[in-house]
Amino acid sequence: MIQRTATRIEARPIDHADHSWQRLLSESVTTPDALLRRLDLDPTTWLHGADKGHRLFPIRVPEPYLSRIARGDPDDPLLRQVLPFSSEAETYPGFVSDPLQESGSMPATGLIRKYDSRALLMVTGQCAINCRYCFRRHFPYEDHRLSPEDRAQALKALSDDTRINEVIFSGGDPLVANDRLLSAWLRHWQPSHTSAG
Ligand code: SF4
Repeated sequence: MIQRTATRIEARPIDHADHSWQRLLSESVTTPDALLRRLDLDPTTWLHGADKGHRLFPIRVPEPYLSRIARGDPDDPLLRQVLPFSSEAETYPGFVSDPLQESGSMPATGLIRKYDSRALLMVTGQCAINCRYCFRRHFPYEDHRLSPEDRAQALKALSDDTRINEVIFSGGDPLVANDRLLSAWLRHWQPSHTSAG
């Protein structure tokens, strides 16, 4: 039985003048060891499983999120969203690594098309935080990194098909892409609906 003696840490106010969100993301915790030490969790209990899960899908936790997790509480729900477990390596009947069946619906690099009127653009493979439950944790982002030629091809595929009236910026988290890239997409593609998801 776990004795719950955890202390919730008051979220520290972020000084936006000194800490741009890009800097906060670059300083994220990205190793199991650092995550456990930061949260006063016993490595002899948690490190083996965390290492195993981390090798399948890496840890990424930025400070503003970290500062809201209770120290010393392995059951904190915020921690459970980011702490890997060895059970992530287990296989189950019926498990599929592409639950949304996206891999068969990619007419061009970085473009997912499952519906006539809607397309989804993989703007970036990066996220501010890596969630253990992510349904795209197996997505081959490396194969869908968009070169300038890929971008031109994706734009052409979108522009040529008049049935498409909505393009969803996705990833990863499209809002961690740099502003110049996002505005370039928006400049070239102005459908009736463009959203982020
Ligand atoms: S795509 Fe969404 S669910 Fe997956 S890791 Fe990124 S933020 Fe989390």
